[in-house]
Amino acid sequence: MATVIDGKASAQALRNTLAETVTALKNDHGLTPGLAVVLVGEDPASQVYVRNKAKQTVEVGMESFEHRLAADTSEADLLALIDSLNADDRVHGILVQLPLPAHINESKVINAVSHDKDVDGFHLINVGRLNTDGDGVVPCTPLGCLMMLKSHLGDLTGMTAVIVGRSNIVGKPMAALLLQANCTVTIAHSRTKDLEALCRTADILVAAVGRPRMVPGSWVKPGATVIDVGINRIEEDGKNRLVGDVDYDSAAAVAGAITPVPGGVGPMTIACLLHNTVQQAKRIKGIE
Ligand code: NDP
Repeated sequence: MATVIDGKASAQALRNTLAETVTALKNDHGLTPGLAVVLVGEDPASQVYVRNKAKQTVEVGMESFEHRLAADTSEADLLALIDSLNADDRVHGILVQLPLPAHINESKVINAVSHDKDVDGFHLINVGRLNTDGDGVVPCTPLGCLMMLKSHLGDLTGMTAVIVGRSNIVGKPMAALLLQANCTVTIAHSRTKDLEALCRTADILVAAVGRPRMVPGSWVKPGATVIDVGINRIEEDGKNRLVGDVDYDSAAAVAGAITPVPGGVGPMTIACLLHNTVQQAKRIKGIE
């Protein structure tokens, strides 16, 4: 049976370290890192994420600035708010909760956030830095996955990694990080042929697809480490359940280690957002 990689515990450990760093920044530099979160509209899942992010920001001793805008807010008004946050010295990280309403151009908004205050790692400059081994901000979800992989496996050099999913927010940056960690990386997607056989070659299998329990245990190489990024809400046995992209029970019977859903990648994503905010605050102030 696989070892369970406990994302909740990893996230708590990271937050504890961040709280110590924040205390030191306050005491030694008079700096309180600040994170601004912007939510447009009333999407219920986004509201929960934003609430959790704000709560955890305050818990590690940072300042949280919440901006909740109506669903019909114009793109121009949103861009004006971002400009004011870019200019606000108390704000070191700006997160615009996605998805945005259809009338707003997401890429325009993402790139309007100063790359020095981008904590999602979605700004083109930070994407470029990640892909040229530069010192940029790394998207939170893949960063959390990498941290869990390293703390479980140690050095990843030479391992074969397969990532199912090629999105800009998970699949592609995950591939860049694993390549930097000296893995041999393959990115699979909806047009990949014989996905099953490909997955079975993986020492590290990352599923970021958005399809409930798509990856069964028969696709997992015995002893592999499985990272399940998926968050899918399904109705089952009359209950509302949260499941991953991996069929947990059959995969856990074959894998060496596996992240559960919930309690795996999700908690680490928020902790990494706080990590990125602290990193940007230090960078803006020129603190090593
Ligand atoms: P996207 O929808 O942007 O991307 C999904 C990817 O999966 C695409 O590349 C798509 O391929 C691929 N795909 C779809 N169907 C198949 C298939 N049958 N076989 C192989 N590949 C397939 O999703 P995201 O990357 O944004 O998110 C993926 C999952 O991760 C979702 O469940 C999401 O909720 C979750 N998530 C979790 C986070 C967390 O904090 N834990 C954070 C972000 C996302 P193609 O490109 O060919 O269409």
